[in-house]
Amino acid sequence: MKKFLFLICFFACDQAFAFENVGDYKKLNFVKNLDYPALEIINSVDLSKKPYYFIKENTPFCKANPDYGGYVYGVMLGPKEYDYVICTRTLYFNRSNYSSFVKQVNRVVIHEAAHVAQICKQGNFSLGVEKWRLKGYPEKMVYNHQIYQGKSRMEQLMELEAFALEDDPYYVLNSVNRFCF
Ligand SMILES: [Zn+2]
Repeated sequence: MKKFLFLICFFACDQAFAFENVGDYKKLNFVKNLDYPALEIINSVDLSKKPYYFIKENTPFCKANPDYGGYVYGVMLGPKEYDYVICTRTLYFNRSNYSSFVKQVNRVVIHEAAHVAQICKQGNFSLGVEKWRLKGYPEKMVYNHQIYQGKSRMEQLMELEAFALEDDPYYVLNSVNRFCF
């Protein structure tokens, strides 16, 4: 009997685990603060199969690295599983007031989902954001912060796009839906 179960698992586990994880993100704290487009985005990230994203919150990495509001983690080019993480606790402790916290949670969800779409797309990982949109706030964030200094040019471009799209949830939602399914 045990052998039989193991064989079933060998062929079917991938799908079964993915199925069990669908919707689990709704239990996480940050989801309560999302507005409509961000909810649509997180739902699409949850349903992505190319690769799978495991939505998490306040991981040990978040606690050890207080500069991060969120991150997407996996090895580029190939793997089927990535972590999509919101460091809600960090955003909460850095808030100036409750509405700034809510706004920041939504921005981070959109920013990290831009990375989701870039990873789903592969190739040059670019979502095709017009160059003029990378000026100002995105360039300031990427070129003035230490955590982006050691990154490759490609990763810096990915960050510029993600910062540029923080106020454009529907661009990000369309990109996730276009490239992740
Ligand atoms: Zn980023």
